[in-house]
Amino acid sequence: MTIIFATHNLNKTIEVQQLMPPHIKLLSLSDVQLHDDIPETATTIEGNAILKTNYIKNRFDLPVFADDTGLMVPALNNEPGVKSARYAGEDKNAQENMELLLKRLEGHDDRSAYFKTVISLNINNTQHLFEGVCKGSILNAPEGTQGFGYDPIFKPQGYDISFAQMEMAEKSAISHRGKALNKLIHFLNGINIDN
Ligand code: IMP
Repeated sequence: MTIIFATHNLNKTIEVQQLMPPHIKLLSLSDVQLHDDIPETATTIEGNAILKTNYIKNRFDLPVFADDTGLMVPALNNEPGVKSARYAGEDKNAQENMELLLKRLEGHDDRSAYFKTVISLNINNTQHLFEGVCKGSILNAPEGTQGFGYDPIFKPQGYDISFAQMEMAEKSAISHRGKALNKLIHFLNGINIDN
């Protein structure tokens, strides 16, 4: 089975391909020569995953999936949420996003947070959603140097270290993205498609 992963990120594609069963061949957006900036204008994580999937589905006659992730902080009305990548502004980076989040959380006792990933799959003209959640809390200051995004300030529940202090495999085993991917893989393993 050949399936398109709606991402421009080659590392993400390689990582996910390694987790896929051997009969599934992933094509990234570069593989299918699509260089468009896919709109992510929905107001929810689910909505953005679906937007990305539909954008590709309308252009190629192959199964397609897309993922979208956000960090939710209940004390801040679930911000940064869908705005996670650009919380501090369009031209800002992960460091500035973390600084803004820490500043907005000053004075709040509730530092609980969770990451949520939604994978939207369109196969045989049917849409399926797979969700992964990782609960934790926001540290007072960044710790660790690995990973990306908000990893240095996110401490998963039941751990004394941040995501940025974990090896990639350790993080993947408990992460939002790892959980959603496992559900997708489990689903794909159970179906037979002739392409
Ligand atoms: P995306 O939908 O996977 O592109 O994620 C959107 C944004 O959420 C990223 O730009 C990061 O800021 C943040 N994010 C997503 N996943 C993670 C993670 O595993 N750790 C830390 N930050 C993440």
